[in-house]
Amino acid sequence: MADVIVIGGTDSSGGAGLSRDIATLASLGAKAVPVVTAVTAQTDDQVKKIQVLPPEMVEAQLECALRTRVVGAIKIGMLGNALTVALIAGILSKLKNVPIVLDPVLISSSGTRLLDVDAEETLKHQLLPLSEVVTPNLLEAAMLTGIPIGDGAATLEKQAFHFRAMGVPNVLIKGGHSTGDVVVDALFDAWGDHVEFVQTRQMGSMRGTGCMLASAIAGQLAQGVALEVACHIGQQMVGQAFALRAKNQDGVATADLAQ
Ligand code: PLP
Repeated sequence: MADVIVIGGTDSSGGAGLSRDIATLASLGAKAVPVVTAVTAQTDDQVKKIQVLPPEMVEAQLECALRTRVVGAIKIGMLGNALTVALIAGILSKLKNVPIVLDPVLISSSGTRLLDVDAEETLKHQLLPLSEVVTPNLLEAAMLTGIPIGDGAATLEKQAFHFRAMGVPNVLIKGGHSTGDVVVDALFDAWGDHVEFVQTRQMGSMRGTGCMLASAIAGQLAQGVALEVACHIGQQMVGQAFALRAKNQDGVATADLAQ
């Protein structure tokens, strides 16, 4: 089976970032190949320190990963700054036929910036056009498109149109941060079709759900699964992880559970 490169930051609380990516992919039977962009010291409530790795170190990791493994997909999470975004975009622009899942991590749920403000433009211009799918939450969709959060499908559609105009063919806008009894994740695909994945909202919050979803999608794409099915399985996995957590098992759902 082809491996999945996961590019992102570490999280010393174990909630989000690369450890979540690796656990998610392991549960799908896929091997995750980590490229560390930043080390973070954080708890569930606070990001205490961030150390972005020197660009030459990020570059060396990514080049070694690409040289060593057969890569079926790439998942991108926390990038930290514009230099890292540009460097990664430069390397990935030379790849062909490897789907890139971009989770545009901007701010932690505890409120700290994980991508510098000035790096947003670099991400939009250099990384979005290389990606197969981008998976913003409601806030990220608003920040990256400049279209404020609305209360209906019409806003999501406008944001998705804006993303697609920036060069990414597929847009999955995650509805977890809205209110209501159900969570709706909306996929706007390359043909302009719109599919909604609906789940009952579960109590509480959990760190790293965005990482889990994007990694699950990348793991499925690496196995040749169609994007719509991959998004559905990813959402199911997040739902299962919530259910496991409610039973005090900080587990990651498995593909079997998800299907
Ligand atoms: N920390 C790191 C290293 C991450 O990669 C991410 C998300 O990708 C986060 C924090 C944000 O996760 P959360 O929204 O659960 O705080």
